Amino acid sequence: MQYDPRMISQRLWKALYALLLLCAMAGVRGQALNLTELPPGYLGGHAELLLEDGAPLTQTQAQIRFEAGQGVKGERNVPGFGIGARAVWLHWTLLNSTDISRDMRLSIGTTWLDAIDIYVIGPERQGAQWRMGDERDHASGLKAAIGYEVAPVFAPGRSELYVRVQSIDPMVVPIELLTPEQAARNDELVRYTYGFIYGFLIALVAYNFMLYAGLRDRNHLLYSVYLTTLICLNLAYTGHGLAWIWPGQPDLQRYVILGLMVVFGCAGLLFARRFLDLKSHAPRTDAWISRGSAGVLALFALSVVVQSHLAAALLAFVFFGVFTVSMVYLGLLTVHHRRVSGRYFLPAVVFGMLGGGSTFLVVLGLTPFNTLSYHALELGIILEATLLALAVAHQVRLHQQATLHAEHLASHDPLTGLHNRRAFQERGQALWSTSARGHRPLSMILLDLDYFKQVNDTHGHATGDQALVMSAQLLTKACRAGDVLARWGGEEFILLLPETDIEQACVFAERLRQEFVEQKVHTEHQTLQITASFGVAQRGAHTNLEALIKSADVALYEAKHAGRNQVQRARRMNELPL
Ligand code: GH3
Ligand code: MG
Ligand code: MG
Repeated sequence: MQYDPRMISQRLWKALYALLLLCAMAGVRGQALNLTELPPGYLGGHAELLLEDGAPLTQTQAQIRFEAGQGVKGERNVPGFGIGARAVWLHWTLLNSTDISRDMRLSIGTTWLDAIDIYVIGPERQGAQWRMGDERDHASGLKAAIGYEVAPVFAPGRSELYVRVQSIDPMVVPIELLTPEQAARNDELVRYTYGFIYGFLIALVAYNFMLYAGLRDRNHLLYSVYLTTLICLNLAYTGHGLAWIWPGQPDLQRYVILGLMVVFGCAGLLFARRFLDLKSHAPRTDAWISRGSAGVLALFALSVVVQSHLAAALLAFVFFGVFTVSMVYLGLLTVHHRRVSGRYFLPAVVFGMLGGGSTFLVVLGLTPFNTLSYHALELGIILEATLLALAVAHQVRLHQQATLHAEHLASHDPLTGLHNRRAFQERGQALWSTSARGHRPLSMILLDLDYFKQVNDTHGHATGDQALVMSAQLLTKACRAGDVLARWGGEEFILLLPETDIEQACVFAERLRQEFVEQKVHTEHQTLQITASFGVAQRGAHTNLEALIKSADVALYEAKHAGRNQVQRARRMNELPL
């Protein structure tokens, strides 16, 4: 055999060229992933991707195209393609470097994908195939909150894994390959997390509904409706609905998530309208919201009737985006209009928007997928729900405070802060009944400041007011806990003293008279002295409280007549036995 050096070098060149070509192809197709040391997380970045450009490809056709180098290297760990995307193939070469078969869990963590086909071609070209997706009648493999999951077995050696995904709904493909133990741990974490989320939300719904039942405040009702639609939406898009509630019903599943997105948005806007009281400070916006919501619901119903999945998906996603931004706009508008409700609403919906917006962009394939950005909606929702619950509770408090304030105004004198005539009547009646029932003594002191008109005329009305306030303070200080004190009229005060007979009441009135004498009212230029006259009476044969007041008034008149600055007890004839 002759060795031609030129032929040898030619062959060498050819071999080198073939090697380079192989290396280049291997570079495009990515290295085989070793099952014993799989990279952590989602595997999109290690896949080759191939978008279908016409009729659906069979697995063999897809394999031929991948082998011809038509695949492109995945750039993201979780590829996203948006709404109405073309079907996509993903391919990995997997290496089982051990000598026993390996049992694995392959999961695709999106529950709304229309059709998923998984093929595993083993080292001996033996194949296994799974057909799943929510547009398929008897699709199995859906695990609530996890996504679609299958259990492929990889024989020792190299296997090829092909996944075909097709979806009108947003196509986002988070694929993981885990050991059964890792998958079980994941399941447990997911179950606890969703248990917490649903438990929290259901508790909030129940709490707000009970508040509505008790207080009849529509804010609570609308808020619990809003939260209920949120729970339903979450149950639908996490796959709980399809896995547990409506399995095997693709016609329902096709529209239920999209429909709930629309209903959730409308319920949120309805709650916001009411909570922020838009009608009173932004009536045009309010009208726009109700018209807009009705319009979107009608359009959605129309796309279901004409069976346009794509139109329904586009409508739901566009509306969801508009809704999220609108909630923040409504909060800003209300704050701008100086309404307190906006101050609580705004931060709440900002959390909701950040969370919802993040998940929304990930689902549409516009921003990279990671656990936080994908689940930001749930996190945002929890924060939003908590803050809104606080906001609704705060509104109840404001309402209560306003009621208390109104009650206070209705029963108190604004100048002195003492009870007014109306409040005295109420409290006086109660004391009257108690003393009459128990045959216990009850006395009354009616007092009137002397020559008060002169005080006003000489020193001005403001000084007169000051004297009235000081008199009220003096009386308040002197009273016991059970006594009832009130401003009876202009410069007249009334005291009702339980467990006090006329002697004790006269002693008390005399003490008060002296305190008045000792008290000085300081004005800008001088100090003046105020005196008061007192009429004292005890409950005797009086038929009612008015009769007792009348007795005290007569005694007061006598005190005035006798020269003022003195205490006068009611005449004996009124002091009939108890
Ligand atoms: P007498 O010793 O007989 O009671 O004389 P008087 O001047 O106190 O009695 P009169 O009933 O004639 O006048 C009461 C005055 O009290 C008239 C009114 O201007 C004044 N007055 C009533 N309410 C107020 C008030 O809230 N503030 C002030 N500054 N004055 C008041
Ligand atoms: Mg007077
Ligand atoms: Mg008077």
